[in-house]
Amino acid sequence: MIQTLSYLAKFRDWRLLIAAGVAGFCLTLAVLEAAVAASVSLGGAPILAIALAGALVGIFLAFAWAALRVIRKLNEQNVRRDFALNNMAQGLCMFDGQHRLVVWNKNYETLYGLGPTIRRGCSIGELLAARHAAGTLPLDPKRYEANLRAALDHGDIFTVEVEMADGRIVAVVNRPTSEGGWVATHEDITERKRAERELDNTRAFLDMIVENVPSPIIVKDAANLKYLLVNRAAEDYFGIDRAKIIGKDSADILPKAIVDAIIVEDRKTVETGEITYQGEHGVVTPGNGKRIVTATRLPVKDTDGKPKYLITVVHDITERKRSEQRIAHLAHHDSLTDLPNRATFNECIGATIELAGAAGDSFGLLCIDLDRFKAVNDVFGHPVGDALLLEAARRIEQTCQGAFVARVGGDEFAVVTPTAQQPQAAAALAERLQAAFETDITIDSHQMRVGITIGVAIFPQDGADATTLVANADAALFRAKSEARGSIRFFEIAMDQQLREKRVLQQDLRKAIEQNELALHYMPQANMDGKITGFEALARWHHPRHGLVPPDVFIPLAEESGLIGALGEWVLRTACREAASWPKPLHIAVNLSPVQFQHGDLPTLVHQVLLETGLSPARLELEITEGVLIGDFTRAVAMLRRLKHMGVRVAMDDFGTGYSSLSYLQSFPFDKIKIDRAFVANLSHSQQSATIIRAVIALSRGLNMPVVAEDVETEAQRAFLAAEGCDAIQGFLVGRPMPIEDYAKLVGRKPARPAITLVARA
Ligand code: C2E
Ligand code: CA
Ligand code: CA
Repeated sequence: MIQTLSYLAKFRDWRLLIAAGVAGFCLTLAVLEAAVAASVSLGGAPILAIALAGALVGIFLAFAWAALRVIRKLNEQNVRRDFALNNMAQGLCMFDGQHRLVVWNKNYETLYGLGPTIRRGCSIGELLAARHAAGTLPLDPKRYEANLRAALDHGDIFTVEVEMADGRIVAVVNRPTSEGGWVATHEDITERKRAERELDNTRAFLDMIVENVPSPIIVKDAANLKYLLVNRAAEDYFGIDRAKIIGKDSADILPKAIVDAIIVEDRKTVETGEITYQGEHGVVTPGNGKRIVTATRLPVKDTDGKPKYLITVVHDITERKRSEQRIAHLAHHDSLTDLPNRATFNECIGATIELAGAAGDSFGLLCIDLDRFKAVNDVFGHPVGDALLLEAARRIEQTCQGAFVARVGGDEFAVVTPTAQQPQAAAALAERLQAAFETDITIDSHQMRVGITIGVAIFPQDGADATTLVANADAALFRAKSEARGSIRFFEIAMDQQLREKRVLQQDLRKAIEQNELALHYMPQANMDGKITGFEALARWHHPRHGLVPPDVFIPLAEESGLIGALGEWVLRTACREAASWPKPLHIAVNLSPVQFQHGDLPTLVHQVLLETGLSPARLELEITEGVLIGDFTRAVAMLRRLKHMGVRVAMDDFGTGYSSLSYLQSFPFDKIKIDRAFVANLSHSQQSATIIRAVIALSRGLNMPVVAEDVETEAQRAFLAAEGCDAIQGFLVGRPMPIEDYAKLVGRKPARPAITLVARA
């Protein structure tokens, strides 16, 4: 009613009311006049009163009609307002100046699950408490209300985002009204927030990917080519923090020479709008040195199709390039001395021959061998050996100055001299080289003097092609080594001839082994009292043309060509079979070459031969030299231990000649030491030999290893050895190496040869 009246007041249609009053008054007067005219006479006053009453009725009717119109209008407005309110996407509520709810919509109710609690006139405090109870206000209601009021009192808009227990998020905006109340909109922004979060996550994910791509990624503004973004790999690539890159252009951080090229490439990509590839190029970075890279540039266009960004993906291939270079270097250089290796030497000699041949020049090829290197390596160990090689390489390089120096083998070096007057220039260089090795070399407090032996061949007279020249320099070195360590030999045609002969002899030896043309001679060994204890088997080769070839010649030949394997096996099998057939259980000594330890499984072979021949292992004695232990010491000792484990005896042959005998003697429990032939042979004229023999015998006592002296030819020698306490002897005094038939009696057989032969001989 109040609302209706206030609307009516607002309506204010005074003219209608006056017109209604006047019309009512006139109408009543007309009715009265008509009544008077008809018959009734009325006084003036009653007529006026009736007319007034009529006017009032008119006004009343007009008023009632207007009120009806207003009510209808209000109803229409309310329906429209409710329709609008309830069809809003947001929840809405309105509070009056006393903070009481006056208007709200359905959305507000359902948004917070308020149900019947909500009623017109309820306070904001009650509403918040109801929401809190319904679990749709995860905040402290009192504090919330206080904050809201404080903001509204200041005339501020109070906004808040509330995430409810069920995960929905509502954005609330409270706007103060002029009546001291406020209007609040409540918008469910769950979906929007989720989409925003998803977008944030996607962006963070993309950032993370770009950041972690291992290739440098650089993004520039296509308009001014300034850096906009760089990832972590790009920071590493430039070697500076991104803070020093972003917002700058290439000229601010890179050297000018590079910048020009970069700008050209950048512009090309921006102008063409196409992906471009920049091949291998160097970039001097501000904090990461020189890098070798390739780069792919791609423009990113905006909606108009114009390039907006320029992305550069850099492929840093520096490490790959460096390792390629390292590998290439290693392929051409020796890893210890860093000198060119044999492959590079071969290339060099080929190229030098080509150049010198075309120019009609001459040059020298020097093959250098380090004397006693193996011994040093073995006595002092590999680190000292390596240091010695390094020092030798340094001295050779320093002396050669400008000549090509290569390490072509373990302790072998080659020098290609510059073209000059030959052979004088090569001879002078060879002498300077030898002089460079005249001073002692000290490594780890070990002082040593290591000489060098040199073989020289001159281009073109000693070889017009690489193979011949190298072979002839080798032949000269071979000759120098066999004649005198520390010497220099120039190639001579005769050497070539000897090499050829050597090769032929090697062929012959192969045939001899295959066709079983070798023989064994047996040399007796005796106690000091003359009692024969066993025999040493010595190989003999009777060559159809050259006659008897000494083992000192054909054994090294067999070792060089690999024939020693077959030869050694034949000797071992033949000697064991022979000894197994003797009635007397004398021992049999067999010589083993160091090469037999390097290839194949020697212990297994010995085991097989013993089984095959039936010889007791205790009767077999294997003679080895220090050469066996030089090289792969561990492998050799392991093999010796396996042999010893079988019950076979092991003797150290030619003791005293080597460099490191003592250390070897301590490394393995030998069953016997054989003093080198040279000491006994020199006894008569060398006091030193007597001293050495004495020392060796004393040493063997200490180590509890019996000593055998070789090459005993005279009674005087035997007497000396007996006096010194030697255990056994071997030599012409006891018996020469002979076919076993000659020692039939000694081995317990009847003499094979008929007596008549002996008579005939005598
Ligand atoms: P080796 O093992 O030191 O053999 C002893 C050498 O000294 C033998 O020479 C022998 O004839 C000689 N000899 C022994 N006593 C005397 C003596 O009183 N006076 C003189 N003038 N010489 C004496 P051979 O048979 O010429 O052998 C030389 C070397 O050849 C051997 O030295 C050995 O190292 C090697 N050799 C011989 N046969 C074989 C074999 O079957 N296998 C291997 N791997 N090497 C063998
Ligand atoms: Ca021997
Ligand atoms: Ca010997």
